[in-house]
Amino acid sequence: MQFVNEFRDGELVRVVLDQIHRTVTRPWVLMEICGGQTHSIMRYGLDQLLPPEIELVHGPGCPVCVTPLEQIDRALEIASQPDVIFTSFGDMLRVPGSQHDLYTIRARGGKIQVVYAPLDAVRIAQQNPDKQVVFFAIGFETTAPANAMAILQARALGVKNFSVLVSQVRVPPAMHAILSAPGNRVQGFLAAGHVCTIMGYWEYEPIAAQYHIPIVVTGFEPLDLVLGIQRTVEQLERGACEVQNAYSRVVTRDGNRPAQSMIERVFMPVDRNWRGIGMIPQSGWGLRPEYADLDAEQRFDVAHIQTRESELCIAGQVLQGMKKPHDCPAFGTLCTPENPLGAPMVSSEGACAAFYRYGRR
Ligand code: SF4
Repeated sequence: MQFVNEFRDGELVRVVLDQIHRTVTRPWVLMEICGGQTHSIMRYGLDQLLPPEIELVHGPGCPVCVTPLEQIDRALEIASQPDVIFTSFGDMLRVPGSQHDLYTIRARGGKIQVVYAPLDAVRIAQQNPDKQVVFFAIGFETTAPANAMAILQARALGVKNFSVLVSQVRVPPAMHAILSAPGNRVQGFLAAGHVCTIMGYWEYEPIAAQYHIPIVVTGFEPLDLVLGIQRTVEQLERGACEVQNAYSRVVTRDGNRPAQSMIERVFMPVDRNWRGIGMIPQSGWGLRPEYADLDAEQRFDVAHIQTRESELCIAGQVLQGMKKPHDCPAFGTLCTPENPLGAPMVSSEGACAAFYRYGRR
């Protein structure tokens, strides 16, 4: 455990790890929901410092990973059109569609611009009135307020050449899907701290009660993660199923109500396909009817595009905690970060990429 001291709060991490070792008496399977948490766990080797009874499985909380292949293909189709400037966060450019990726479109002359905030895309639309500017609005509850703000701003400014290709997803329906799936192994959740910063954790209380499962709001630094694990294990050992907040320096039970209101003004819950998992009822946000004119899927008539995943990829089972990345026959051979077959190998937050990068083979 000597390298624990090499990162911030190392001594405290060691203390909490000792508590976990003293608390655990039998095997437990915990899922960290967020890809950022997966990345931190792998990077700092926390999985290797836990007692062998505790198994961490890695949830579907990487937004790049769960954006469905057909939505990538729709983005590629729109971005290929001559009068379009397609804007996106940078991590979507490498995600392969069924034929190629946004980098390929850019190499062929397509106008693809990386933006750091959705409002930048609105500004690009104002500066280019002769072009159609499309923003790829992907992500969980964390990105939804900024995406909603861009839509409200475009409407307020009367920017007619701006639209959004929406692939917003929500965590609670995914938790329901995981817990109710045949073969579920998850016994406790580390909830994603940044999602709870926006949404609070009141939505998780009925889930904890319904499935009798502890849920602990957890941050991203090593100390945050071991605290989340310790509180989850402590509950499991005494048969409790509470929602606890181990990230209280950031998260409150109610969350950010103004941000939630902004989401509600623009979006409404819709059924959404999750890459590798399939359709989860009411697991996404779609534009409300009053914003339908900003829907790029309708504006560019790409909703009909459907695709099929690689039959080799077991991402759905990985993202539900049923298999580990190295259980996939393609892991590290046919599928690597340089030549990814599935989205969890593309994104640096994907479980397969984290396993590959940090040598969990
Ligand atoms: S290693 Fe590649 S092919 Fe296998 S599950 Fe992960 S992304 Fe899919």
